[in-house]
Amino acid sequence: MADYVHTSGYAYFVISDHSKSAGYAGGLNEDRVLMQWREIDVLNAKYSDGFKIFKSIESDILVDGSLDYSDEILAQFDLVISSIHSVLNMDEEKATQRLIKAVENPYTKILGHPTGRLLLARPGYPVDYKKVIDACAANGVAMELNANPQRLDMDWTWIPYAMNKNVMVSINPDAHSKESIHYVKYGVAVARKGGLTADFCLNTLSANEFSEWCKNKK
Ligand SMILES: [Zn+2]
Repeated sequence: MADYVHTSGYAYFVISDHSKSAGYAGGLNEDRVLMQWREIDVLNAKYSDGFKIFKSIESDILVDGSLDYSDEILAQFDLVISSIHSVLNMDEEKATQRLIKAVENPYTKILGHPTGRLLLARPGYPVDYKKVIDACAANGVAMELNANPQRLDMDWTWIPYAMNKNVMVSINPDAHSKESIHYVKYGVAVARKGGLTADFCLNTLSANEFSEWCKNKK
């Protein structure tokens, strides 16, 4: 996967497997996380042109808003993307509080697909977008624009509000295969529809800038 991303012309690669709660999706338990980190270290030493693999995870947001690894594990990732994948039947109050608790977690750097919708298949849970974006602003968390054409979540209509609050938007392919990293193009198209500028697009950071951004905890 890393070699494919490298030869596709990207300057860096954030690998974010599913976390241990998502066993059905091959989510990584702690032992497999450690194995992956070792493999990433070996590969990172191999690239001579500055290409870098960042250690990430898509950590499940549990029903109470907490994440599904210990702080000790979470602290060792370069960044953590936090997403809801189960118990999707929530009213707006519950969903909003669950998301805000995850955004306030000091290890969360990106909030994944904020409503969980699947276009033409499943509506998202109702979310008070303003409150969630305000929480992202207060905690230095970026919001994902999941570029999988079945998701396109966050909805592009909220991009102006996010930019107004200085919240960065991260266009993520949600790739489950090598080729699906190219979903990024759908995210870029929808982000442009919402008026996203390069300044607010996390993907435009260089590898060094992105590395600094990851370390910058609010
Ligand atoms: Zn997800």
